[in-house]
Amino acid sequence: MSYELYRSDWRIVGHEWAVRHVTHALNAGRLRHAYLLSGIARIGKTTFARAFAQAVNCLSEVARPCGVCRACKLTAQGNYADFTLIESQGNALKIEQIREMTRTLALRPVEGRYRVLVLRRFHEASLQAMDALLKTLEEPPPHVLLLLTADTTETLLPTIKSRCQMLNLRPLPVPTIREALITQYRVEPERAALIAQLSGGRMGWAIEVSRDDTLLKQRAEWLDWLEQTLGESRALRFERARQLSEDRANLPTLLALWQSYWRDALLLAHHTAVATITNRDRRHTLEQIARSARTDDIYQALLAVRRTLRYLQANVNTRLALDALMLELPRLHISVS
Ligand SMILES: [Zn+2]
Repeated sequence: MSYELYRSDWRIVGHEWAVRHVTHALNAGRLRHAYLLSGIARIGKTTFARAFAQAVNCLSEVARPCGVCRACKLTAQGNYADFTLIESQGNALKIEQIREMTRTLALRPVEGRYRVLVLRRFHEASLQAMDALLKTLEEPPPHVLLLLTADTTETLLPTIKSRCQMLNLRPLPVPTIREALITQYRVEPERAALIAQLSGGRMGWAIEVSRDDTLLKQRAEWLDWLEQTLGESRALRFERARQLSEDRANLPTLLALWQSYWRDALLLAHHTAVATITNRDRRHTLEQIARSARTDDIYQALLAVRRTLRYLQANVNTRLALDALMLELPRLHISVS
């Protein structure tokens, strides 16, 4: 076996198959000029792009990316002359940004082997911007590496997709995120387990939430409301529906959370292991519900939340939809501790 200069240890969490794919291409001298990194928001696409840029410009003669040479360090800090992150301005990547980028592409790299350009949030690019990029994709200068990131590829022109090597990054397994939070970000184990479970496999989201409690506090408040509602009279429930209807912008997130809560209750009612539930910090109240409510009532509550979510998307009167939901949640006395 020949010696391999490029290694698959990129010091990023997950996405191993994509790292191996790129490493293999680098070692075989078959690097493409444009890659499209797709995957849901906060999954680690830009982190991947940065490590990719380190690999192609690393100065090590032994193992690339080394993480410690000038090119690796400056790229990590965002200060490397041949590494440029282009963000969409406002909500869309503008044609002027692509034109300006195209002009710099013709220039030789300042010190690296490649001039690496990362175009972030390319799913928001305007049609004209995509059109302008196509010309570059047709005849890319040999020293250029273009990395496009997109939350979805549905909005992209087929001609863009066909000229890029597509790498679709998938959500990471929950244990991978949990371990990374504990070992690399020093998050306390029980908290790391909860954040990992709630992350939907998005490492970027998990890191952000581990540093800023706001999202977790909001979630706790919304679950408290649901648990309190179960013990309340009709009159109090209608009052709650009125309060909820005033915060319409947050309702889809709140209802999605309540949906996951009832799904957990249903899992426990069917004697599924606690480890499989999403809202593991609520296992005590969820277990009480699973024991004291009829399975059919739990199922009906889950359906009612789902139906309310659909109604909101269809612009049904918010207050009416919430009133109806309140009547369909079972009446239960659970002790919240
Ligand atoms: Zn290096």
